[in-house]
Amino acid sequence: MNNLVKPTYAEGYVDRHNNIKLDESKFNELYYKENSIVIAVKDENVFVNKDFQDRAIVNFSSVDKKRLKHSAKTIAYLGTTQQQPIFSIEGDCLQDNQFKDLARKGAFIDLRSIASAINNKTASLFAYAKGLIQWHINSRYCNKCGSSTKSMNSGRHRQCMNKTCRIEYFPRIDPVIITLVEHISNDGSIVRCLLGRNTCSPVGSYSTFAGFVEIGETFEQAVHRELHEEVAINVDEINYQGTQPWPFPHSIMIGFRASTKSLSFCVDKIEIDEARWFKPEDIWLLSDRANPQSPVKNSPYDSISRILVETWAKERIKEIV
Ligand SMILES: [Zn+2]
Repeated sequence: MNNLVKPTYAEGYVDRHNNIKLDESKFNELYYKENSIVIAVKDENVFVNKDFQDRAIVNFSSVDKKRLKHSAKTIAYLGTTQQQPIFSIEGDCLQDNQFKDLARKGAFIDLRSIASAINNKTASLFAYAKGLIQWHINSRYCNKCGSSTKSMNSGRHRQCMNKTCRIEYFPRIDPVIITLVEHISNDGSIVRCLLGRNTCSPVGSYSTFAGFVEIGETFEQAVHRELHEEVAINVDEINYQGTQPWPFPHSIMIGFRASTKSLSFCVDKIEIDEARWFKPEDIWLLSDRANPQSPVKNSPYDSISRILVETWAKERIKEIV
C-alpha cells in the first residue's frame, strides 16, 4: 500500500484460524460462547441493529443462536477477533413466523448503504460474512457434474457429493484492476488525471477505469488492455497502490496508478460513455461533501476509486503549494 488510506471493507482484523479444523463439539463450543458474534446475511443485506451507528452487530442470546443454528441453511465460521468467535449464517429463516421475535432485534440493510456510517472494522467484518454466505448460496451444485455440494470444514469450502466426482470448491474471488491515469507533461509535471463515466452511471459521475483480469493475464497486462479498450490510450509506468475486498458479489479490487504522455483519448462508447481530464483542484468539484450541488460527482465513499482520485489530488495540491 502506498499513501492510500485503508479502503472500506479492508480492515481485515479477523484471525481466520485457517490451519485449525473444528470438529462438531469444538464448533459448538465456539458458537455457543456467550461473546460469540453471529451475522445473518440475506442477498446484499446484513442483519444490523436499527440504531446501527452505536452498535451495528445484533447481539443474539444462546437460545437465539440455537434456534438460528437449527433453521439456517448455511452457517460458517469466520475466525476470531479479540477472543470473540465469529460466525455468519444464511438469514432467510429470520423471515419465518417463528422468528418474529428475533427479526425485531434488527433489520436487513444493504451493506453499501451503511458502510460509511459504521466503523471500518465492522464494515469489513460484514463484508467478509456477506461474501462467504453468498458464495455458499451460489455454489450449491457442482460445476462439473451438477450434483449437490456440501459445506465442509466449518463452512470454509464445499465438496461435490457425487462419489465419482468429489471436487472441492473454495470461495471464489474475481480480481478486478482499477486504475487512475495521470498525464506527464514534457517538463515532467503532473497536473491532470483522466476519469471516465461508465455507460451505466448517471450523467456527471466520473471514476477511475476498472475491468476484470482475464485468464492468462497479469494485473499489469489487464491495466494496459482495459485502458486501450476503453479509452484508447497507452500507458507507460504502472504502479500498484493498494487492494480492497469487494464482495459485491465476489471481487477484489487491485488499485494502480498509470502514466501517459499523451492527452488524446477516444472512448469506446460500450463501457465508457465519456471521459475528461481533471486538474487536482477540479477534484474538489467532485466532492459532494465540499460541493453538494456540483454537477460532477466522484465515486461512492466506500469505493477504492474515490480514494485513488482523492489521494492523487491531495498529493498534487501539496506539490503545487
Ligand atoms: Zn461433481
